[in-house]
Amino acid sequence: MHLDQKVSLKTLHTFGMEVEARYFVEAKTHSEVLTLLNYRHMIHMPILFLGGGSNVLFTGDFKGIVIRINSKGIVIREEDQTHVHVTAEAGENWDEFVQYCVNQGWAGLENLSMIPGKVGAAPIQNIGAYGVEVKDSIESVQVVDISTGKQRRFTNAECQFGYRDSIFKRELKGKVIILNVTFRLRKIDESHDERISGLQGDKVAERSLLRLDYGDIREELENMGATVPTIRSVREAVCNIRRRKLPDPAEIGNAGSFFKNPVIDREKMELLQPVFPGMPFYPQSPASQSFKIPAAWLIDQCGWKGYRSGDAGVHTAQPLVLVNYGNSTGLQVLSLANQIMDSVYQKFGINLEPEVNVIS
Ligand SMILES: Cc1cc2nc3c(=O)[nH]c(=O)nc-3n(C[C@H](O)[C@H](O)[C@H](O)COP(=O)(O)OP(=O)(O)OC[C@H]3O[C@@H](n4cnc5c(N)ncnc54)[C@H](O)[C@@H]3O)c2cc1C
Repeated sequence: MHLDQKVSLKTLHTFGMEVEARYFVEAKTHSEVLTLLNYRHMIHMPILFLGGGSNVLFTGDFKGIVIRINSKGIVIREEDQTHVHVTAEAGENWDEFVQYCVNQGWAGLENLSMIPGKVGAAPIQNIGAYGVEVKDSIESVQVVDISTGKQRRFTNAECQFGYRDSIFKRELKGKVIILNVTFRLRKIDESHDERISGLQGDKVAERSLLRLDYGDIREELENMGATVPTIRSVREAVCNIRRRKLPDPAEIGNAGSFFKNPVIDREKMELLQPVFPGMPFYPQSPASQSFKIPAAWLIDQCGWKGYRSGDAGVHTAQPLVLVNYGNSTGLQVLSLANQIMDSVYQKFGINLEPEVNVIS
């Protein structure tokens, strides 16, 4: 392990701002992460753990030590006829791990294809896409406590997962390092070609567990000619849709959705609906006491889509994504985010909450 000084983070985070870390070290194995913790009492400066840097906004240089978690390894812990329990180290690339699971015929993560970042960060904000959240497949999360150096395994229930939320984003933020994550995935026999129609009995049941009802997945599968969907074709459909709809950070700096979709109560909903009859909403419980409102719609209604100030902007097709066209600073993006939050509050009385971690 090398401790380097004044390291540029430009290529290590997807917003691509030119910022540097005062000190930088990369932990390439589980034991290197633990070794670093042995020196924690000697480090009297802020510490930042970084995965793929796809959910952070740096407002300036980081005046402490950045520890990049890059530990690798995928191990099957347990397997029976229907399920596999597989542990992936925190530094595994998320999408490569999803691809690996799909190739093995393990279902559960295919709708989460092409989300940037590392496995270790996936539980932190309970990543989600196309009707699936990672919590649905997580069995446990292994962490090490930074102040005591003690390891602990959190069960799924102990992770307190919620919408883009978990205990690691709240009480334990900055207090633990996620070392690895264990997933429980369904085994699906995909020996049949997906274009063969007329699957019978349990094969139909297996396929019906695939989540196809969100977004344009069914339409994309039809366009692909995938009449009997498989985990492979669902992954391909999700990748196709994402390539069309989301800006590629390799071309335009961004961190995906900048804001969470707000959830409002029934009383607020009843006040807003007559004024904004076109407002989309999604009931959150069977009793429909709360409703999720698409933040993209709220931002669009305030006229922000495609807005640009200097090199900071709101994406032209997806108003939930704030972008760095090249030379924006983090403070400029943050200022834009604050203006958007203010205008949404002025118009709808709804508070938007950033999904991205602002690092100052
Ligand atoms: C184009 C694009 C599309 C995206 N689409 C989605 C989407 O569909 N759904 C979705 O949910 N998200 C999406 N995201 C957001 C992002 O990909 C996820 O939040 C991802 O899980 C972040 O992983 P990371 O490794 O890059 O985390 P980082 O950005 O490196 O870190 C995020 C936070 O986690 C902490 N952290 C990272 N690793 C560890 C660890 N091992 N232990 C302790 N703390 C750690 C960091 O300190 C930081 O606070 C998207 C981002 C982009 C750029």
